[in-house]
Amino acid sequence: MCENHDPRTIDRRTLLRVAGAAGIGASLVGVAAAPAFAANSQNGWSGITSSSDTRLDRSFKASGVAFPGGVRRGDVSTVLRYVASEFHRTVEPLVVGWCWGWADRDIRGKEVLSNHASATAIDVNAPDHPLGAEGTFSTSQVTRIHQILDMCEGTIRWGGDYSGRKDEMHFEINVPPSSSALPRVAAKLLGAVVTGSQLAITAADASKVFYADGSGRMVNLWFSGGDSGWHGPSAIQGTTGANGAVSAAKNGRNVFYTQSDGTIANSWFDGSKWNGPYALPAEGNNPVVAPTARMSRVFFTKDDGSIANAWRGSDGAWRGEGRIPGKAAGPLASQGDGNRVFFTDEDGYIANSWFNSGSWHGSSRIGGKGTYPAASENSVNPTVFYISAGGVLKVVKWEHGVWSDPVTIPGNPVGPLDVSADGSHVVYAEADGQIRNTWRGGSGAWHANDLPGKGSNPVIADNERRVVFIGEDGRIYNTWRSAATDGNWAGPSRISHLD
Ligand SMILES: [Zn+2]
Repeated sequence: MCENHDPRTIDRRTLLRVAGAAGIGASLVGVAAAPAFAANSQNGWSGITSSSDTRLDRSFKASGVAFPGGVRRGDVSTVLRYVASEFHRTVEPLVVGWCWGWADRDIRGKEVLSNHASATAIDVNAPDHPLGAEGTFSTSQVTRIHQILDMCEGTIRWGGDYSGRKDEMHFEINVPPSSSALPRVAAKLLGAVVTGSQLAITAADASKVFYADGSGRMVNLWFSGGDSGWHGPSAIQGTTGANGAVSAAKNGRNVFYTQSDGTIANSWFDGSKWNGPYALPAEGNNPVVAPTARMSRVFFTKDDGSIANAWRGSDGAWRGEGRIPGKAAGPLASQGDGNRVFFTDEDGYIANSWFNSGSWHGSSRIGGKGTYPAASENSVNPTVFYISAGGVLKVVKWEHGVWSDPVTIPGNPVGPLDVSADGSHVVYAEADGQIRNTWRGGSGAWHANDLPGKGSNPVIADNERRVVFIGEDGRIYNTWRSAATDGNWAGPSRISHLD
């Protein structure tokens, strides 16, 4: 346990020794007269003196590693668990027996309680990072520690950043109980989204969920197999504009969004870290990337509804912006190869424009009046769903060189829709928030069923085995089915490892 780690925490004996040596005792009378047993720790949180105090979560663990003593329940626990688990994942593995939390230790006349005494501090891998030692982490580890702290927006201080004596094992809450920052950051770390935000997931396996978090930053959650489950949220360089629309390429390594200055930006993962944001030569709203692995075209709308695109040339450079025939009265949808874009036209009809023989053509209607077009990835025979003017679900398909007549299928979505890669499933929320799934059976007939959960903005992936959505509490949930669930939809469950 680091003791008296905070350079601002100077015990009374030290003060008196200094006072005696310097002969300035008179000036310290006021300090010495202060209560010897301060009720609050250095950061302003009240001390906890009993291990049976109900404010204490004594079973606190991060990444499976116990922190004897525990930490304070609630937002403190959420944020410290995030710090410790991200430390485990990105800095170095936590070692069982080398990590601690609350300490009911004798304060021995200190003027200020250690933040461990209020259960708002943890020590990680203490023997390797002892009090007073400097440089116990490599430069790259320090960078990663600061990335964790950055996600915590100043609510956490690391002992390695102390101006005086370092305490590199130590992380502590750095705001008082009255701070509004801590609950906001805790909610964000639990998966809260910006109001109006969209989710984007990697369609291949739903292993990554991208969104603008409660502070407008781009983040992702990701799933890995085994018992490690969901991770994150982890920062992606970049901040979305007001509407929080994001679009991810199928490879999970490229995400597009509108920045607050109106430019379309791209952040990308190079195998070890996120890079960007790179501002494309484009300005607009509602970016949609063609969901192919090659990731070569992004559609977006201008303020007047005009449709435009930016594209990546064979040299890897982005070019734009190029206008596409048509004006959109809402969000766009792309098929897999990025050579066709679907939208609601100025008169309210579902329409499309397409690239052929070196130029764009359109806009041409493919269905009745409707909103929220969504398309399968199939570029040869795309299937397009939309919400008709009557609020019912419609489907049209390109077959034999023509668009089929729109067919009414079960469902009353409020939008947006999300379609599985092969066009056999479409998911949506209904007016009461119920998440619902309409699918095509083996006979070709369409069926619909409720999925567990209520909310908005569902997205489907993982070969129709997982649906991720924003719950009614503004946090991200998922429902799933597998052999283990006998093919039934299980959940809903928050996709957070922090609660
Ligand atoms: Zn400590």
